[in-house]
Amino acid sequence: MLQLQRASQRTIARRAARAAAATRRGLATASEPYDCVIIGGGPGGYVAAIKAAQHGLKTACIEKRGSLGGTCLNVGCIPSKSLLNNSHKYHEAQHDFAKRGIDVPEVKLNLPNMLKAKEQSVTSLTKGIEFLFKQNKVDYIKGTGSFVSPTKIAVSLNEGGETEVDAKNVIIATGSEVAPFPGGGIEIDEEQIVSSTGALELKKVPEKLVVIGGGVIGLELGSVWSRLGAEVTVVEFLGGIGGAGIDEEIAKQFQRILAKQGIKFKLNTKVTGAEKREGKVYIKTEGSKGGKEEELEADVVLVSVGRRPVTTGLNLEKIGVEVDNRGRIVIDDQFNTSVKNIKCIGDVTFGPMLAHKAEEEGIAAVEYIKTGHGHVNYHAIPSVVYTYPEVAWVGKTEQELKAAGVKYAVGKFPFSANSRAKTNLDTEGQVKMITENETDKLLGVHIIGPNAGEMIAEAVLAIEYGASAEDVARTTHAHPTLSEAFKEAAMAAYDKPIHC
Ligand SMILES: Cc1cc2nc3c(=O)[nH]c(=O)nc-3n(C[C@H](O)[C@H](O)[C@H](O)COP(=O)(O)OP(=O)(O)OC[C@H]3O[C@@H](n4cnc5c(N)ncnc54)[C@H](O)[C@@H]3O)c2cc1C
Repeated sequence: MLQLQRASQRTIARRAARAAAATRRGLATASEPYDCVIIGGGPGGYVAAIKAAQHGLKTACIEKRGSLGGTCLNVGCIPSKSLLNNSHKYHEAQHDFAKRGIDVPEVKLNLPNMLKAKEQSVTSLTKGIEFLFKQNKVDYIKGTGSFVSPTKIAVSLNEGGETEVDAKNVIIATGSEVAPFPGGGIEIDEEQIVSSTGALELKKVPEKLVVIGGGVIGLELGSVWSRLGAEVTVVEFLGGIGGAGIDEEIAKQFQRILAKQGIKFKLNTKVTGAEKREGKVYIKTEGSKGGKEEELEADVVLVSVGRRPVTTGLNLEKIGVEVDNRGRIVIDDQFNTSVKNIKCIGDVTFGPMLAHKAEEEGIAAVEYIKTGHGHVNYHAIPSVVYTYPEVAWVGKTEQELKAAGVKYAVGKFPFSANSRAKTNLDTEGQVKMITENETDKLLGVHIIGPNAGEMIAEAVLAIEYGASAEDVARTTHAHPTLSEAFKEAAMAAYDKPIHC
């Protein structure tokens, strides 16, 4: 097995080296076309590549970063979750252990080691994908891809030189990047004014951190540095936190809990500029709809105002791939772009910018290529905020249903009435279930509380299978578990809960 992997590694390396050398000498490569070439090795691209190879397609994945896993594994989901997990443990050891009968003499932060632990998680996962590529015989081409024609891609190799690959099918999965501050005026230097990438590797805990943007990424990274000792202020243009798709009631409860933890919020507030003075950054703000101007002092500012699709350098105009006015590649419901044989998935096209959404699309796009059928249910894509407590949801919010004129019922169950949460002294939050009035079918589930990010999987499955609240309520849930709160919220939606 290992010998086979080494042999295939050598073959890929030899092929790439031959191709690079041939191109350097000005010769065309005369290799057989790939069945499927994927540009971008993030969660969308690498999953598509593995699935394509599993389907017997001769597959290559072009990735320029020098490491697989895209934004998610390198500068997104994984490093942020490592810091969230470890900063939570630090915070618990400092503020929570004593009430559980655990006395620790003195808890000290070792930030370099916390950052090292984060790096270890990232490296082990990105290397793991390389291993999966070898195991599945996906050719990994390290370089930047650019279309020469719909079936030919030029690759500027990271190690130097160029090659070209021919492809019967191409999947664009080039993802997204940090959006700059709208209108300019605040330049990211990744030291004092940082994006999420810089906020994952601050060398010291800032005394004052201002987060511009109260969406998921801003709240997660704000939580990390708040737990490690920073005074954190979140400035948000809108009247609520949590970003798109969060239920308004849950968002309010979420804000109250984070505020109790020490995070300050300035809602309905617009940032108009920033100035660096005497080692500090001064953020200018005013009311979203005009009004009082203010200045906030910060040691570090995190600009977290969203992400934008990456299409630069792909040469899309030349081959006629359509892009919309927000820079997203336009696709139909089978992931086809405007050019035959080129599909597109993940952050670079429509829909929520989430790793699991990109992965599902990667699999479905390959299935369309191979079999003509694929499946992604956009009504059942969960969202999770990995703060403490976690917030997770799937399906419709109350405000969406009201706007659509749908008649619905709501069942709620607080963790303060759940035996496991009480046992764990961890009772903040609730499960909120929204069902269709007439049919009792689950339309949306919103959870704030311990382990919400794991518990939401049950809601996703229920929605995927078209379950009613009664279906969930009549399903046995182990005792004592937090998931009993999920069952009881379903009971509350269609009848009455037992424990509250
Ligand atoms: C701080 C942070 C935390 C996040 N946390 C979560 C989370 O907890 N859960 C979640 O679901 N999502 C999370 N996300 C979002 C998630 O990372 C993205 O939705 C996901 O990575 C999108 O996958 P993708 O494959 O579409 O694109 P990406 O992951 O962006 O991958 C695209 C890849 O394509 C490469 N590329 C681009 N152009 C070219 C080219 N011309 N040639 C070769 N390669 C190219 C890029 O180098 C990149 O590696 C987070 C994001 C951030 C920034």
